[in-house]
Amino acid sequence: MKKFGILTAAVISAFLLAACGSSAAGSAKTEGSAAAQSSYAGKTLIMGTNAEFPPYEYHEGDSIVGIDAEIAAAIAEELGAKLEISDMAFDAVLPAVQAGKIDFGAAGMTVTEDRLKNVDFSDSYATAVQAIIVPEDSVITGPEDLEGKLIGVQQGTTGDIYISDDLGDANTQRFPKGSDAVQALSAGKIDAVVIDSSTAKAFVESSSGLKILDTAYADEEYAICVKKGNTELLNGINSAIKKLKDSGRLDEIIAKYIKEQ
Ligand code: GLN
Repeated sequence: MKKFGILTAAVISAFLLAACGSSAAGSAKTEGSAAAQSSYAGKTLIMGTNAEFPPYEYHEGDSIVGIDAEIAAAIAEELGAKLEISDMAFDAVLPAVQAGKIDFGAAGMTVTEDRLKNVDFSDSYATAVQAIIVPEDSVITGPEDLEGKLIGVQQGTTGDIYISDDLGDANTQRFPKGSDAVQALSAGKIDAVVIDSSTAKAFVESSSGLKILDTAYADEEYAICVKKGNTELLNGINSAIKKLKDSGRLDEIIAKYIKEQ
């Protein structure tokens, strides 16, 4: 089971490496004057996300905050644009990008081969794993024990894709929000939850009697998606990500929201 995820991640990493090579040249060209040259200057860029995914995006009072919101603010700045964040179901983000209803999706979104058929992805800005959450006294000790169990996932996420592919639909219980899956686990309605590691940590910390297993289900890379062929926006995003990486600001943003790293 685990092999599937790792294999997929390896293929994707190879793709990302190739993508990195070409974007580095592109961003060098626009460096310094990107905002002035950008056709987005003075306009509003709409980011689509699902703000139920701490620490990458979540509600704080009236605002949506988190790692992705801060990265998106840097992208808007790079292009001289204003940023608007549009909150929607996770599985609505990709179709909204494809339809041009939003400019980009930043939703802790994992690069997958299937998604690459429908949108273009930026360079990766974070790695993650699909973690397994179980009750503290669970008999489940690793991915191999999930067979025949009822696993909660957030609808349309890679956790959903891996679990339903590997274990079948009858063993997969889909929830609109990851927090709903964790609540069902606390209530004893399901046997485990498979969800992204940082989000798993945030949920487990705010509930009691749950733990995260040491062995993860799969390794992944997060990136931002744009409509296929929108190279101007993709170059701007990659340029902003490169600057955030080079200046150490990306590490600072991640450290601000993920204390252990
Ligand atoms: N990384 C997972 C995915 O891309 C989940 C993202 C999310 O729930 N926001 O499917």
